[in-house]
Amino acid sequence: MNIDIALEKIEEKGYLDVAIDPTLDLFEEIQKLKKEKNAVLLAHYYQDADIQDVADYIGDSLGLAQQAAQTDADMIVFAGVHFMAETAKILNPTKKVLLPDLNAGCSLADSAPADAFRAFKAKYPDHIVVSYVNCTAEIKALSDIICTSGNVEKIIESIPMDQPIIFAPDKNLGAYVNKVTGRNMVLWNGSCMVHEIFSLEKILRLKTQHPKAKVLAHPECEQAVLDVADYVGSTTGILNFAKKDDAREYIVVTETGILHQMMKDNPNKTFIPAPPNNGCACNDCPHMKLNTLEKLYLCMKYEQPELLMDEQLRIEAKKPIDRMLEISRKAGLIK
Ligand code: SF4
Repeated sequence: MNIDIALEKIEEKGYLDVAIDPTLDLFEEIQKLKKEKNAVLLAHYYQDADIQDVADYIGDSLGLAQQAAQTDADMIVFAGVHFMAETAKILNPTKKVLLPDLNAGCSLADSAPADAFRAFKAKYPDHIVVSYVNCTAEIKALSDIICTSGNVEKIIESIPMDQPIIFAPDKNLGAYVNKVTGRNMVLWNGSCMVHEIFSLEKILRLKTQHPKAKVLAHPECEQAVLDVADYVGSTTGILNFAKKDDAREYIVVTETGILHQMMKDNPNKTFIPAPPNNGCACNDCPHMKLNTLEKLYLCMKYEQPELLMDEQLRIEAKKPIDRMLEISRKAGLIK
């Protein structure tokens, strides 16, 4: 498809469907485009290794949100999923925010449609709403405070014990936080299609085969999986734990993209991806993996697709994110 037709069809396709000269060095081209356009490239740990390697900043949701808020680049290119690019736009509306493929959604964000959530919230008028950042801008606008897996405990602990809370959209993360903080939050019934399907049976088998391996799990996993983990934490938490800990082998229960940084940080340690309960050996997020180096290059070159947002929605969605950043700063989690 030529570029003019591809630009016309971008709403239908969600990305630029253009053939690229196979002799192009895309790493070099992307680096050139970053300089030419004063663009910053932010990538989530769940992206493919080549995208992580060409990014200016790799992080989890909290780190990426902070980078998006602080950048002085003219353009933010977000190698992640839709709600992350939305968060970047909410925090930095004057910047052009690009997402290589607008189809890169999130099953967890999709599990909380705004109308159904509004009706649910109306049943609990005395509750405040804490929402995990993996939700749409509409859900953020209906929330009082946003949290990430890296700061959720501090956020909940900052709320008086007698204040009832609705937690959305991830029921597994909510149940885990209820357990560690002693709360009884009302949970929205949402989940992540990647973290929910780890097989406890296969993890236990791996533990038998690797008796010295420690199990590192993300709190979006089901409680039965978290119960056998040696460490439960955000992607950044898992990375830091693996760096500081003195074991040699780990079973990693989260999206496989994280293994790239773990192996780079710890070349002498072994990381074994935990298998899901289907036929696959590891567990990729199909949404995250929609981004490719080719789509990234095209999106930077032609500055499309761009993430656009209604200004009133943006203003409403920003309030609970600001609250999160303020609490995180006070707790010393960010500067
Ligand atoms: S791993 Fe789960 S929560 Fe993260 S983007 Fe994919 S579906 Fe959403």
